[in-house]
Formats: sequence, structure tokens, C-alpha cells
Amino acid sequence: MAAITCLVKRTPSLSSPVARAFFSTNSHPAREDRNVQWVFLGSPGVGKGTYASRLCTLLGVPHIATGDLVRNELSSNGPLSSQLSEIVNQGKLVSDEIIINLLSKRLAAREANGESGFILDGFPRTMKQAEILEGVTDIDLVVNLKLQEEVLLAKCLGRRICSQCGKNFNVASLNIKGENGRPGVTMAPLFPPEHCMSKLITRSDDTEVVIKERLRIYNETSRPVEEFYRSRGKLLEFDLPGGIPESWPKLLHALNLDDYEEKQSAAA
Ligand code: ADP
Repeated sequence: MAAITCLVKRTPSLSSPVARAFFSTNSHPAREDRNVQWVFLGSPGVGKGTYASRLCTLLGVPHIATGDLVRNELSSNGPLSSQLSEIVNQGKLVSDEIIINLLSKRLAAREANGESGFILDGFPRTMKQAEILEGVTDIDLVVNLKLQEEVLLAKCLGRRICSQCGKNFNVASLNIKGENGRPGVTMAPLFPPEHCMSKLITRSDDTEVVIKERLRIYNETSRPVEEFYRSRGKLLEFDLPGGIPESWPKLLHALNLDDYEEKQSAAA
């Protein structure tokens, strides 16, 4: 833990755990010689996990979601479990030290898994995390997914997860009228297939009080991270126009990947 404490207190160095984990498989290869290294930002409930995981399947890169790393650690009943459960169930952020420790372990597993590139989802979430990441690898693009707060709340409340396959679904049917020049939003529910139906669970942090706290903390702590990447010309702002059927093709277009899906399936 001492090394990690140093890591969050000082400027990132190449001897830090996260740097070692990155450099074990990636010694700054030229961008054209490697897979994408992207970050997905956005408020709780915006759909980072859904879109990041779809893109990862398309591009053949690992989807590394720090929220999943936290939940795995929680369910492992390891030494950090009770501490993490208290933090997560209050909607607070886990400390930079713990997150970097979990992320370093996941990154170190990339070599054994034969993985290259990545899409990070839910990291960085604080300025400190952004500075550490900046110090250890090149991020090509940061996608900032956006939805209005009313929709975010309803989406989190409607979220269900299959306890067996881990897939996310949503039982909310949204039809929010546009007002004051803001467009309306319609989203159909994303129901699970029959075999997941009896295994659906709700995340313990998806209660109204906790969601509101997570949104508050996102606005306070993560907005500066958006600015950090905006000022570096890496931020792609993407206003989700609706649910997956409307948003997915538009997102592919914004990422210059319109034909990619067809080419991939033709080549398969
Ligand atoms: P959401 O984006 O819906 O809030 P996530 O699944 O990304 O949820 O994260 C769940 C919880 O895990 C967060 O509320 C927070 O407690 C913790 N967490 C995830 N990523 C980070 C991070 N980068 N830094 C600190 N805490 C994190």
C-alpha cells in the first residue's frame, strides 16, 4: 500500500503500479501499430457500460470498467469488501488509492489474456486519476456521453442486472417532453430474454437517494475531468438522442465507424 500512497501523492512515475501494468504490454507503440485506447465519461446511468461494451466487442479490445472491478472486489468478500460496500452504498467515490490498485491488477492481466488496447469506463473520475493516467499512457479519444438529469435518474431506477450472465437491462419506459428548447427523450425498455427474467437484480446503489448523491458527486468531481480532456482537444461530446436503436448508429457515425460493423461481419 505504501507504493500506491506515494503514487497518489506525487506526480505519476514510471515505477508506479499503474505505470508498470501499462508498460508491461505497451511501451508507447505508435498509434497506428496498436488498438484504440479510449475513455468513456458520463454521469451515472448515461449508458457508458452499454456503449463501451458494444464498441469493445466491435473493435476487439477489453472493456475495463472500474465500477465492475469494485463490484467484483465487493462480492469476493476480501479484506476490502465491507469498506467498499459502505462507500458504494452511500454513492461516494472509492479512494484513488484503492481504484488505482484494482485497475493496476486488471491491467497487469492484459498480457496473460493477450489483450491490446482498451476502453476505460468510469475511469478517470477525479483530476488525480486523470493526471496519473496522462502520465502513464496515451489516450487517443475521450467520449463524453450526455443525457439530461431527469432521464439519468429514471434510467438508474429502471436498471436491472442478470445475476448469472451479468448483462444490463432496463425496465423503464421513458417519454420525457422537450421544454425550453431542450429536445424530448423517448426510450423503450430494454427487457431481458426469457432465461434471464428470473435472475434479475437491482444494484444496491440504484436507489433514488444514492443516485442523486452519485449525480451530485459526478458534477462536482468529474466535470473538471471533462474540462481536462476538452482543453487537450481529446473530448468528443455526444448527446444521446434516445435509446440504443437511435443512439448506436449515430455514435458509430460520430466515431467514423459507420462501415466498420458491416466490414467486420463481412470478413467473419
Ligand atoms: P455509476 O457510473 O453508475 O455511478 P459505476 O458502476 O461506474 O457506476 O461505479 C460504481 C461505484 O464504484 C461508484 O459509485 C464508486 O463508488 C465506485 N467507482 C467506480 N469507478 C470509480 C473511480 N474511477 N473512482 C472512484 N470510485 C469509483
